[in-house]
Amino acid sequence: MAFALSLSPTEAAVRSGLPPAGQSLVKPGPAGRPIRRVLILSEDGMRPELIYKQHMPWHERLYQQGAYSWHARTIRTASTLPSHASMLSGVDVNLHRLTWNNWRPSKGFIQAPTIFKMAVDQGMKTAAFVGKFKLRHILPAGTVGVFERPGYYCRKVSEEAARYLEKEKPELTFVHFSDPDEAGHSAGWLSERQKRAAQTSDACLGTLVQALERAGTLDDTLIIVSADHGGHNHNHSGALACDREIPWIAHGPNVRRGYLIRSRISTMDTAPTALTALGLPVPPGITGRPIKEIFE
Ligand SMILES: [Zn+2]
Repeated sequence: MAFALSLSPTEAAVRSGLPPAGQSLVKPGPAGRPIRRVLILSEDGMRPELIYKQHMPWHERLYQQGAYSWHARTIRTASTLPSHASMLSGVDVNLHRLTWNNWRPSKGFIQAPTIFKMAVDQGMKTAAFVGKFKLRHILPAGTVGVFERPGYYCRKVSEEAARYLEKEKPELTFVHFSDPDEAGHSAGWLSERQKRAAQTSDACLGTLVQALERAGTLDDTLIIVSADHGGHNHNHSGALACDREIPWIAHGPNVRRGYLIRSRISTMDTAPTALTALGLPVPPGITGRPIKEIFE
């Protein structure tokens, strides 16, 4: 197949002994190279414009060498707990029943199986590193191998996650950064302060990617970068489209490179996409569908 034999400009440069123009994250491999791991990063409150309208080097490396959409959408309930519950279960609030948005232990936990529960049931190593402890409502004990809240801001979260990723090489990982949401509420969505918070989040993403590189797992990991919601002024009520619009970036083995995704993505599609990538069955009751368009 002529396509499989053709070299990318980067690989051609490497083979010719010339330095590549841009550093390649994933060496182009033969079609069908397996994905062995999935890393889902959710950047709280990250409106797509914060990524593509300013210089975000780590995000750029992922979407320029991956598949991406700036028009994915979260569920109608555009707040942190309900949205993340949909992201990690593939169903809407009516099924997962996580309607509240703060740590309320008396209210119990998510009422739908998450992809973490499914992965744990198959004996996979799983971990979550989050900036907000309330996310425990989605990932209760027994449904995820490790659940840690190293700190509110992404620096501590990413450093702790990076240590774990490098040492333990988990098969399914969820990482959550609070920084864009905090700056949005305090200084406004798309404010200068929030743009800087997004850049901080970008550096924290770099911490994760570099950990995968050191672990030697970047080549077999599907990375999905998304968010729970957007926002406007100082909040995200869900009333405006920009409250619900989220970025969605996929990068990894056999993922199309520099590919703008055409299909309309829901945050509920993240769960079945991750399951499919891990070779796990997608339960029939899931509302989301795997985004197969991202693969070559
Ligand atoms: Zn918020």
